[in-house]
Amino acid sequence: MKCSKWGGTAVIKMRQHRRRLCANHFVEWFVSMTQRTIEKHGMFGHADRVLVAVSGGKDSLALWDVLLRLGYQVEGMYISLGIDEDLGYSDTSLAMCRRFVSAHHPEAVLHIVDVEKEYGQPIPTLARTKRRGRGKPCSVCGLVKRHVMNRLARDGGFAAIATGHNLDDEVAVLMQNTLHWQTGYLARQAPVLAEREGLARKVKPFVRIYEREAAAYTLIRGIDYIYDECPYAKGSTTNFYKDLLNQLELRSSGAKQQFYLQFLRARDSGSMSFAAEQGIELHPCRQCSQPTTAGDLCAFCRLWE
Ligand code: SF4
Repeated sequence: MKCSKWGGTAVIKMRQHRRRLCANHFVEWFVSMTQRTIEKHGMFGHADRVLVAVSGGKDSLALWDVLLRLGYQVEGMYISLGIDEDLGYSDTSLAMCRRFVSAHHPEAVLHIVDVEKEYGQPIPTLARTKRRGRGKPCSVCGLVKRHVMNRLARDGGFAAIATGHNLDDEVAVLMQNTLHWQTGYLARQAPVLAEREGLARKVKPFVRIYEREAAAYTLIRGIDYIYDECPYAKGSTTNFYKDLLNQLELRSSGAKQQFYLQFLRARDSGSMSFAAEQGIELHPCRQCSQPTTAGDLCAFCRLWE
């Protein structure tokens, strides 16, 4: 297999782009695709400070690496959830983030928030205590992560939070929301979620990157990452949709990309519109002052009561 650019040995075939690239040209393409996505959606500029949420996985570490190489002012944020099942998932994830810094960017800043140390309980125990999530702590976990990320971004004066969501993640959520006609979620699904009354701006610079491309990038760059998923992700609905979409992609290359990009185009052109959270007002929580739609206390503060 030959590189489409110069005839050397290709290491990856990207059928949806009709390209085969060698290691050097692939890394060049990957970085430039991320830069084009940041510019196209006006995510942030070089004068902005950006907080990148890292989990120790391939997507978030690849994103941190690319943003640093592009010269953006990015700092990493790792939230230790206290998930110890499967040989200490949280500890291994943190070790991967630390190894990334020491091996690739020793000057990079990594903020670490340990949920148990800061708030008193790890996520699985908290979910069990509150009897939330039917055996899985994911709803509690999502709530805590959103709160902590927003607090760090607000207190640290960051212009945006960047996450490593890739095209496969976005398409799986899009399919799920479309099949269930979750119009509120469809309205909010976008590469950029604007800042709103104390809620930090959120951006996804990898929305044009397939998951296998992020994996290839980390491999070529020699970035170690945690291969295993969170033990609670096993059997998740998102993974089920990802499998379905991969089968579709095998039959029709570019199907995932088409689905996602056409959705964005239709929405941006106004040919499809959803009523987005109109009339829902945010106000500061009495305890933590983060924005909430609930009464006196936000869902996070109620969780710890
Ligand atoms: Fe949290 Fe794991 Fe659930 Fe993801 S799969 S929301 S990391 S508990």
